[in-house]
Amino acid sequence: MTGDERSDELNERLQAVEQRVAAACAAAGRDRGDVTLVVVTKYFPSADLERLHSLGVRDVGENKHQEAAAKLEELPTPVRADLRAHFIGQLQSNKAAAVAAYADVVQSVDRSKIAHALDRGAERHDRTVDVTLQVDLGGDDEARGGVRPDGLAALAEDVAGCPRLTLRGLMAVAPLGADPRAAFDRLAELSERLCADHPEATWISAGMSGDLEDAVAAGATHLRVGSAILGSRPALR
Ligand SMILES: *Cc1c(COP(=O)(O)O)cnc(C)c1O
Repeated sequence: MTGDERSDELNERLQAVEQRVAAACAAAGRDRGDVTLVVVTKYFPSADLERLHSLGVRDVGENKHQEAAAKLEELPTPVRADLRAHFIGQLQSNKAAAVAAYADVVQSVDRSKIAHALDRGAERHDRTVDVTLQVDLGGDDEARGGVRPDGLAALAEDVAGCPRLTLRGLMAVAPLGADPRAAFDRLAELSERLCADHPEATWISAGMSGDLEDAVAAGATHLRVGSAILGSRPALR
């Protein structure tokens, strides 16, 4: 898969994003090694996941169950085994158990019903799944989901009580039209509060193609970057 035109294009964009991440870490006095780049491959074919794997990518993000399951299934076994699959999309409870069959991380858990369905699915497939809680940081785009900050502590307790789930931390999307830095600072505060009760739950997943610098500055441990690496999504062209 290496050496074709698309690989060259992905490589260039990946390097450009790497430079942005490195510069943001340097500016914030943070270690590059403390930030995981999750490359969001939604809408792009499994051949691109293979190319990205050849380029050194080990964490990929998908937001739709059927698409994610099909693409991961298509990958050669050693490539699949070498990738960490992050599910980052809205989940319906009737799909959650199926997502637990393949997702290594589910970042978008925002209610107990989803957590329990994931836990049952993980049990059925004899796996464990890492979980971050998606927080709603306000704004009007409620379609994006997320638990309100005042519901966070109770949801964290529920997830911590699920034997097949490992509570890792928080995830959020900056609200449309808001200052992303302020939103991510708020997320960092919520993370600090969560860690008081769950000291291992240190992940902060924040930052996308347009605002990854703000996320790194605010302490993000995971970035979810799609279009800056893959290009404009076909559906949005
Ligand atoms: C698509 C998506 C991303 C990546 O967004 P880009 O702007 O393409 O980098 C990140 N997080 C979530 C939840 C997404 O759905």
